[in-house]
Amino acid sequence: MAFKSEYLTKVYDKVCQRNKGEEEFLQAVREVLESLEPVVEQRPEIEKNGIIERLVEPERFIQFRVPWVDDNGNVQVNRGFRVQFNSAIGPYKGGLRLHPTVCASVIKFLGFEQIFKNSLTGLPIGGGKGGSDFDPKGKSDNEVMRFCQSFMTELSKHIGADTDVPAGDIGVGAREIGYMFGQYKRLRNEFTGVLTGKGLSYGGSLARTEATGYGLCYFTDEMIKCMKNESFKGKTVVISGSGNVAIYATQKATELGGKVVALSDSNGYIYDPNGINLDVVKQIKEVERGRIKEYVDRVQGATYTEGCKGIWTIKCDIALPCATQNELDGESADALIKNGVIAVAEGANMPSTPEAIEKFQAAGVMFGPAKAANAGGVATSALEMSQNSERLSWTFEEVDAKLKNIMVNIFHNSYNAAEKYGMKGNLVAGANIAGFDKVADAMMWQGVAY
Ligand code: NDP
Repeated sequence: MAFKSEYLTKVYDKVCQRNKGEEEFLQAVREVLESLEPVVEQRPEIEKNGIIERLVEPERFIQFRVPWVDDNGNVQVNRGFRVQFNSAIGPYKGGLRLHPTVCASVIKFLGFEQIFKNSLTGLPIGGGKGGSDFDPKGKSDNEVMRFCQSFMTELSKHIGADTDVPAGDIGVGAREIGYMFGQYKRLRNEFTGVLTGKGLSYGGSLARTEATGYGLCYFTDEMIKCMKNESFKGKTVVISGSGNVAIYATQKATELGGKVVALSDSNGYIYDPNGINLDVVKQIKEVERGRIKEYVDRVQGATYTEGCKGIWTIKCDIALPCATQNELDGESADALIKNGVIAVAEGANMPSTPEAIEKFQAAGVMFGPAKAANAGGVATSALEMSQNSERLSWTFEEVDAKLKNIMVNIFHNSYNAAEKYGMKGNLVAGANIAGFDKVADAMMWQGVAY
């Protein structure tokens, strides 16, 4: 499908030529450009200032070698990345992902999405992302430490509290952030807020661990309240993944009155008709770093099924994909719709394929896209940066209240932007437009560097 706008067609063709084979990145760019059709039409200054062609090209893309020595004394080499995509409204900000599937395309798709997500939070943060194809699974603590130190040895040359502030993502939690922060401090002799998601004893923010999952539920609650006068109360909820986002989404959805009946990991999913016992999940995933299937050995009545996709065939009212990109396809969307799902909100980044999103929208299912629904993590990271700059710590309640307020505003800004451009209820378009507007304005004010 070509774009209606000649300008967007020309820009997108060039992106395809320049980034051949980078499917995730092209998918993310295409989705955003489709939403921007009416904006480009109504605001000719966008084309005149070359805003879109500048937006789709990262300001900087860094790729580097990460050598480290494993427990057997063998040298291992991984590939490290950092994309500094756009700094129009603030220092680059975005997580680091450690997963074998990490490559240039994945990092660029995530960094591109991050520009709009960060803008939507209303906070002064630009878009960036990074990571490595290192797989933390099965590695000892010492191996993870040596890898993180080697990774930071190069990354430290490119980041800084006012330049670029990375955080966690898949495979990067408190342990990895701690090792990286320690190495940055050793190399630079500076104690600054250069990373977020830090431990509480050295500058971390209360509620950062919970923020993405909690924020997802605050957003979803506001969405279903405003669009269908509904709430989580009495609803059956299916959540994929069992990492940071999934665990805290389960906690908040349950607190808000929902019953979460399923969780997964990359091997399979558990179904517990009585409602997931989160203490058991936390023990397995956070303390023992085990597999989700161990749940059924500890909780009666629960079942485990190999393979991830089947999770979407479980009957539910609300579905929250919280694992990884493209995990929910057209067939899974059909199954959810057939079973009467009323709302889907994305905790993971780009978990629904374009086909799945189309099906949800056609069936009238409320759909909260990732860059709006999961922005609570980065928003709270920005609150951690504020606390680090002030050298103060806020209480859990203060941070949580700010997070809730931000998520409610993100919903309304996305909803209103969609309505303004004649696409009422289409939060995919609304989030893209609301995020884009502020960045585009900042880029115009700052001019083009020759
Ligand atoms: P974690 O590493 O804590 O957990 C990831 C979970 O997803 C694990 O259960 C993992 O299972 C599962 N998973 C990973 N890859 C796959 C796959 N290919 N198929 C099925 N399941 C998979 O990561 P997070 O919870 O932090 O991140 C989850 C998603 O949320 C990502 O898309 C991330 O970008 C997004 N996100 C995270 C934020 C944060 O603050 N952490 C902020 C905003 C978005 P396994 O253990 O088997 O690998």
